Amino acid sequence: MKEKILVVGAGFSGAVIARTLAEAGLAVDVIESRAHVAGNCHSARDGETGVMVHIYGPHIFHTDDAEVWALMQRFGEWMPYTNRVKSTVDGRVYSLPVNLHTINQFFDKAMRPDEARAFIAAQADNSITEPQNFEEQALKFVGRALYEAFFKGYTQKQWGCEPRELPASILKRLPVRFNYNDNYFFHQFQGMPKEGYTPIVAAMLDHPAITLRLNTRFNRADSAAYAHTFYTGPLDGYFDYQLGRLGYRTLDFERFVADGDYQGTAVMNYGNADVPYTRITEHKHFAPWETHDKTVCYREYSRACGEDDLPYYPIRLTAEQQMLVDYVRAAQALDGVTFIGRLATYRYLDMDVTIREALDAARGYLAARESGAQVPVFYCDI
Ligand code: FAD
Ligand code: UDP
Repeated sequence: MKEKILVVGAGFSGAVIARTLAEAGLAVDVIESRAHVAGNCHSARDGETGVMVHIYGPHIFHTDDAEVWALMQRFGEWMPYTNRVKSTVDGRVYSLPVNLHTINQFFDKAMRPDEARAFIAAQADNSITEPQNFEEQALKFVGRALYEAFFKGYTQKQWGCEPRELPASILKRLPVRFNYNDNYFFHQFQGMPKEGYTPIVAAMLDHPAITLRLNTRFNRADSAAYAHTFYTGPLDGYFDYQLGRLGYRTLDFERFVADGDYQGTAVMNYGNADVPYTRITEHKHFAPWETHDKTVCYREYSRACGEDDLPYYPIRLTAEQQMLVDYVRAAQALDGVTFIGRLATYRYLDMDVTIREALDAARGYLAARESGAQVPVFYCDI
């Protein structure tokens, strides 16, 4: 049996798999098409301001998974960080996710929690029992006024379609709170790597049994030299897009530098459809333990992903669903390869879920290798 394992992609998925297999005594080659590790979580210091920037958009680590959190602590120093997001709508600034402050500000009231709950219940569309799409989900839970202010325009810009064409699950990610808790996430653990995400991933890959090659694109023929391939690139890309291209949104970032503090917070969303960008990220606020005279910000624009663009958000509308089924079927006919991570499984995955799935896949592989069982092509439902 050939002993070496090939891991395609050096994002969190690839790094966790490589590390887990290396610690179990296997030799692992990791190839990465970009010039850096950490995939879309890559961070680097801005040359002009010295601020640590999340190059592919703002990333906040949050999880309830104690093992994943402990694994992250092993590979670098983490600082406490709580994500608090604001939204500018019609020239006024509100608190997100929708909470008691947002509701009182927006309706110019001073309601207590029970009053606000009753007030919003009266605004909500109670004729909707089982929300079928994003718009229905919003109308049912926050009512038309808040939906139109905070969600409709933003979502049109982010996804390039009407919210009623999108699944309700996208909005289910965001809570509505009848207290003043403005923590964007519910999770027990939340933090920011002190020196950015890239050194964390680099430390994971720093193991004598791991060989990393950057600037190296995968060819299917490469797998012949290995006992197994873990592929974290795009699912359609593996098949040279033979069945067509799965739809993604890509992002354009417009950088600008200012003196001091530009917006007073890390992430400012823009709810109005006539503001062309979705949000502005001011990265120095992700590292409040650092001081910098200047500040660097990025306006974020979302658009359809072309052939030469980086795929960011999988769209998963009806057209993609059929193509996805066909690609999954083609993948399931293969042997000796596992598709894992956000691109290879065409799902929106937070970092902690990515890491959990990668851990489980690597352990699953080791168990199958022991028992002689078939290694699954997918470790998740798609
Ligand atoms: P990736 O990071 O995409 O890594 C895949 C790697 O494979 C890439 O480095 C790529 O270059 C390489 N590759 C692809 N094809 C090939 C090939 N053919 N040959 C060689 N190499 C190849 N998650 C959170 O938990 N919190 C957040 O706040 C958060 N914010 C986000 C904001 C944005 C704008 C986006 C888009 C995502 C965000 N995420 C966030 C999700 C997070 O980015 C993903 O969970 C994570 O990047 C997934 O890791 P991965 O290794 O599966 O994929
Ligand atoms: N959303 C919105 N208004 C906002 C923030 C989010 O309408 O101010 C919607 C939007 O459709 C987005 C979804 O809620 O895609 C999920 O938001 P989240 O902040 O989780 O987005 P992500 O982390 O994907 O950028």
